[in-house]
Amino acid sequence: MTTRPHTTKHIVITGGVVSSLGKGIACASIGRLLVNMGLRVRIQKLDPYLNVDPGTMNPFQHGEVYVTDDGAETDLDLGHYERFLGVPCSKLSTVTSGRIYSSVIQKERAGKYNGGTVQVIPHVTDEIKGTIRGLGGPEVDVVISEVGGTVGDIEGLPFMEAVRQLRHEIGSQNLVFVHLVYVPFIKAAGEIKTKPAQHSVQKLREIGIVPDLLLCRAEKALSKGVKDKLALFCNVDQDKVIDLPDVPTSIYEVPQVLHKQGLHEILARRMGFEGRTCDMHAWDLMVGHIRKPKDTVTIAMVGKYIDHQDAYKSVTESIDHAAYSHLLKANIVRLESEALEKDEAWAERLKGIDGILVPGGFGKRGFEGKLRAIRWARENKVPYLGLCLGMQAACIEFARNVLGLAEANSTEMNEKTPHPVITVMESQKDIVAAGNLGGTMRLGAYPCTIARRSSRTHKLYAADVVSERHRHRWEFNNAYRAQYEAAGLQFTGLFMPDPTRPEVSLVEVIELKDHPFFLATQAHPEFQSTPVKPHPLFRGFLGAAYKRKKGEPE
Ligand code: GLN
Repeated sequence: MTTRPHTTKHIVITGGVVSSLGKGIACASIGRLLVNMGLRVRIQKLDPYLNVDPGTMNPFQHGEVYVTDDGAETDLDLGHYERFLGVPCSKLSTVTSGRIYSSVIQKERAGKYNGGTVQVIPHVTDEIKGTIRGLGGPEVDVVISEVGGTVGDIEGLPFMEAVRQLRHEIGSQNLVFVHLVYVPFIKAAGEIKTKPAQHSVQKLREIGIVPDLLLCRAEKALSKGVKDKLALFCNVDQDKVIDLPDVPTSIYEVPQVLHKQGLHEILARRMGFEGRTCDMHAWDLMVGHIRKPKDTVTIAMVGKYIDHQDAYKSVTESIDHAAYSHLLKANIVRLESEALEKDEAWAERLKGIDGILVPGGFGKRGFEGKLRAIRWARENKVPYLGLCLGMQAACIEFARNVLGLAEANSTEMNEKTPHPVITVMESQKDIVAAGNLGGTMRLGAYPCTIARRSSRTHKLYAADVVSERHRHRWEFNNAYRAQYEAAGLQFTGLFMPDPTRPEVSLVEVIELKDHPFFLATQAHPEFQSTPVKPHPLFRGFLGAAYKRKKGEPE
């Protein structure tokens, strides 16, 4: 008997009509259904912009920079992918035009094209196809590729051409095209309009792509009549027009919406994975918790860019995940740190808050406001969780107000501080001097040894060594360690590249004695929380915040 060679199947998802339809969430939801069928899924985002990666982009423009285990600075859609799928992404999951072109140009400079004329087709499209196929392999059943932007965007064309060619090369049985469109309801006419979706599919057909499946974003579910019309004019089978109406409570309801319409069965049939059951148990249980919280808890998040919904996406998600697991709904109050700094009545803003969180950040603006919030948390025994800059800030606040080092600071905020309790890491000094800022921070996953078994940190992690992701240049200055410890601040997590030389270890987690919950980490635990498996530090923080609200002892 001959066994069939393993072929990775591909799903390519494009978007039409308008942006901001939640394409990333749709892709991630499809991925979750496949994972629930026991398939080994990988997922990637193809972004047509020219930045090599989003690491140097302003959060206002691009939202949060998401970091993978292997240190890629990526689009925040990868965060959705990991949270929905529960499968870690890697560098291969993020592909921008900038990265593709820079690789093609490097090859050209290295003479790899044997003196030929280098062109978008075939060289750029080949490079794109290579990165899509690169994610597949014997260990992978399905690769999902989300094409960023909207059909018709000039910069997206090489990607469209590449996926068209890919289907031709690997065969239509191995590649499914899914097109996500917007189907608007025109209030004045009282009608749902299918024309923009028809035009979008026409645009796709012009470049040789015929979608197999249409996902229709609309305010409400579409009638059979509207779906039949879309099927006829978009040339898609009637049962392959899928509704994606706004969900009432949470984005985590989207996989359920797709499951109810049997999308998993359609895809399984199309790709040759029939006969598998799609186990929605854990997912349904989690969504059940989101729908029926027993109480609320109020968490203040103090940072810059706070008004931008997506600037701290993973942080707000992690707070929510932890809240669900306590059967709570988190009421997240976003406090602009600069306002806390300038407002005389700043303390008013912190009253009624059950827990304070300072997330990661860069630069001086609003920094003193963060220190104010941290001092309030420490002195009033309000639970505090600090992430990355939030740990550095907690150390600075402690130095100034407990150790009596009034001018203590990070050299990021004041190069000339007499007490640089936070300094540039040794390995980063030359990089900062050379001004080479893209992709050069301490990035990705590092092991962290939990230093004290009796600590809250150890209790929460319930492990001696954990792995967390990083994105920073500055670090706690070990010269001050003894002073802090003598005053009650404990270093409970350390990165120890050489266990025989503790002096070269890096401080990763701190916590305060005699406080209901005052814990901060140099890492970004928010990149590892999922709704089904909330992060232990966030869980501990939310639990402590709720105890404070209820006036219960710690
Ligand atoms: N600006 C700080 C550093 O580079 C913190 C970075 C962060 O919060 N991601 O070390």
